Amino acid sequence: MVRKIEKLAVLGAGTMGHGIAEVCAMAGYEVVLRDIKQEFVDRGMKMIRDSVEKLYAKGKLKESVETVMSRITPTTDLATAVKNADLLIEAIPEIFNLKLETFKECEKFAKPECIFTSNTSTMSITEMSKATNRPDKFAGLHFFNPPVLMQLVEVIRGEKTSEETMKTLVEFVKSIGKVPVRVEKDVPGFIANRVVAPRSVLLFGMLEKGVATPEEIDATLRKAGYPMGAFELLDYVGLDVHYNGQKYYSETISPDFTPSKILEEKVKSGQLGAKTGKGFYDWSKGRPEIDLSKAGKIDPLDLVLVEINEAVRLWEMGVATPQDIDTALKLGYNRAKGPFEILKELDIGYVVKRLEELSKTYGKKIFMPAESLKTGKVREAFY
Ligand code: NAD
Repeated sequence: MVRKIEKLAVLGAGTMGHGIAEVCAMAGYEVVLRDIKQEFVDRGMKMIRDSVEKLYAKGKLKESVETVMSRITPTTDLATAVKNADLLIEAIPEIFNLKLETFKECEKFAKPECIFTSNTSTMSITEMSKATNRPDKFAGLHFFNPPVLMQLVEVIRGEKTSEETMKTLVEFVKSIGKVPVRVEKDVPGFIANRVVAPRSVLLFGMLEKGVATPEEIDATLRKAGYPMGAFELLDYVGLDVHYNGQKYYSETISPDFTPSKILEEKVKSGQLGAKTGKGFYDWSKGRPEIDLSKAGKIDPLDLVLVEINEAVRLWEMGVATPQDIDTALKLGYNRAKGPFEILKELDIGYVVKRLEELSKTYGKKIFMPAESLKTGKVREAFY
């Protein structure tokens, strides 16, 4: 059975929370948006209004700005936010104990049938659900930034999440005009972020071994048709954010993800990328110019192979279907094709041989080919 969702509580009016509230209000849901201080709620409401006005001006809104805004009730009071909600979406800072305490508080006011979700990028849904009395009605609902533009939402099953909760959330995501993918196991990084994580290990391996400079790598990628170079993208996202992500994977997946000294130095010296004006590139005059004549030092396929390998592992572990993994990469990372779609066109013998070489060259176990690549069983994943 799919439960009826009408009223939502969104906790946190920051980067993600305001966008999630906006998307849901535009889809017709009644939303209560809660932050801890009036100024934060006001800032969130202003960001929503500015964005909705822009959409209206572009003719992308079916209703008036006021109609959409009237569906969002701002508050600083947790009880007001939660008491009538059918679905709660938590988008507060990525601090585990803060999330636990907040969910515990929510238990006091929420209806027993309300579904609790977290927009966490990294934390265990199962562990978080333990702070509540409703682990069957607890799941991950992972939006991508900015929620207004990004179509992907990962729906993550914790150990005790019921099928009813999963189905309800999948339908909810569709109802707000987004594309859900089902993450059937609560693994670090879920799907999209997890699949791309080994790529960074290889990129920094290339720098450390002096195979190529950031600009030479980015020139190669841009020439191969990528809209942005890899280091340009890291600068854009923020090197501190990336550092924290890799550190988390080093603790939860494999020490192979330990952030490179090169990355650590950048973060320590405050060169965090676009937001500080300098990272791998100088951003003081806007987006860096990349000299495409520097292309050719690396084979861009190597970066794709380590992603494919991780995608195959997720499929082997029963985390998601090949279709959902492909969808997650296409929508979450704007890829033209998903890892299984690419693999289908490659010689699997070559993929295995090259991954073994990369593993040896860079001393990383995570690049060793997944079992089903070696046996050929991976062909069963092709659709
Ligand atoms: P943010 O810092 O922009 O916003 C968080 C907001 O939560 C702040 O306004 C803060 O005042 C508020 N807050 C703190 N405690 C609160 C409480 N108890 N109740 C209500 N509000 C509270 O953070 P963000 O970037 O929006 O991230 C929120 C969550 O979304 C994190 O778990 C993050 O990992 C995840 N996420 C972020 C991104 C991204 O690109 N920023 C993408 C996907 C997921």
